Amino acid sequence: MDFALSEEQRMFRDMFRNFAAKEVAPRADEIDHAETLPKEILRKATDQGFLGATIPEDYYGAALDNISYALLIENLATACASLAVTVAAHVSQVAMSILDFGTDAQKEEWLPALAGGEAIGALALSEPDAGSDMLGLETRARYEGDEVVLNGVKTWVTNGELAGLFLVFAQGPQGMDAYLVPRDTPGLTVGYREPTLGLRSAFFNTVYLEDCRVPQSYRLGGPGQGASVAERAVDRMAVALAAVGLGLAESSVDVAAQYSTERVQFGVPIGKKQAIQNYIANAYIETEALRYLVYRAAWLIDQGEDFSVDASVVKAFGARTARSVTNRMLQVLGGYGFMEDYPMARKYRDARILGIIGGPTEVHDFRVARYILAQKDLEIVPQHQ
Ligand SMILES: Cc1cc2nc3c(=O)[nH]c(=O)nc-3n(C[C@H](O)[C@H](O)[C@H](O)COP(=O)(O)OP(=O)(O)OC[C@H]3O[C@@H](n4cnc5c(N)ncnc54)[C@H](O)[C@@H]3O)c2cc1C
Repeated sequence: MDFALSEEQRMFRDMFRNFAAKEVAPRADEIDHAETLPKEILRKATDQGFLGATIPEDYYGAALDNISYALLIENLATACASLAVTVAAHVSQVAMSILDFGTDAQKEEWLPALAGGEAIGALALSEPDAGSDMLGLETRARYEGDEVVLNGVKTWVTNGELAGLFLVFAQGPQGMDAYLVPRDTPGLTVGYREPTLGLRSAFFNTVYLEDCRVPQSYRLGGPGQGASVAERAVDRMAVALAAVGLGLAESSVDVAAQYSTERVQFGVPIGKKQAIQNYIANAYIETEALRYLVYRAAWLIDQGEDFSVDASVVKAFGARTARSVTNRMLQVLGGYGFMEDYPMARKYRDARILGIIGGPTEVHDFRVARYILAQKDLEIVPQHQ
């Protein structure tokens, strides 16, 4: 067992940390309040190769291993969780789905464009009446000769407004299908952008599909294989979202620890008070536990092992940890923690979504329980949770 990062991984971590501190952190509050992600930040991230993070070199990606990719998402999230989620949705949900399930032609057509940022990826699965229940989709895929006609409504599509390529899930004649739908396909409309509690620099849109026609060759995976594509994307995104939680938690501990040395009450820095020390120590302990769960899940992906249970373990733990750590670190800042002029309020708001986006914590808990109980010969299915 080796807990050390390789020399290359350490080099990447330092590079990501540097980028986040210099290029993103100074503008993170401003762009959060403006509720936008400036093009130049995305361009700088693209120039660094971040949008092609785990895409192989054959397709002009950066070919990072998954631990390095987790380090990327973690470090971006220390500065701006919106940017981290934007990159993760593009890489983990769309680019990697094409790599996992695409034909050679699909990989050649889309992976270089995704790596180079010419197309941003967005995954369109959820619907107004299909959230946790992924299999209850109402979007339909009707086969007409060599074409497929898509009709339906998709909600809260991360990157919707930015996207050049949508990975759309629909009910086909043989079960759920997945389709690669370019932004300019007639019949696809990007609609309403939802105002949100957190992640305010990211974009979440409703997407409408009205007689949207694509060739059958745009299907990702075989007919009826959409559920496998979706599950794999959920697993990959779960690990990336846990890395977002790690970045939020560790940067909150850092901000609160620094503040506790500067804020003087009753004649001493508040860091000398045991209650504050306990807050900081416990938050640090939970953050370090999360760190190793994140790196371990990433390592399992690199080993080519089944990581779906570990993905749920780390997603659920990451969401809880990010939420409780940001909450307690906000408490260390007292009233300043509540003020929007300080980054802690943003981190606290951003952490809240991690228990919902990418599948709610209850669903990930269920997946873990199903795994444990199966070993005791008790089979459980989602309706019976
Ligand atoms: C900011 C944001 C970004 C998103 N990005 C995307 C995206 O890019 N692409 C995409 O397709 N979707 C996206 N989603 C949708 C997201 O995946 C769903 O919100 C999530 O799957 C939960 O669905 P729901 O919100 O409809 O909640 P529901 O499924 O209605 O659940 C409501 C509550 O009931 C609980 N619950 C539901 N079923 C059960 C059960 N069987 N047992 C116990 N408890 C249960 C849930 O855990 C939750 O607490 C995004 C959502 C948000 C908020």
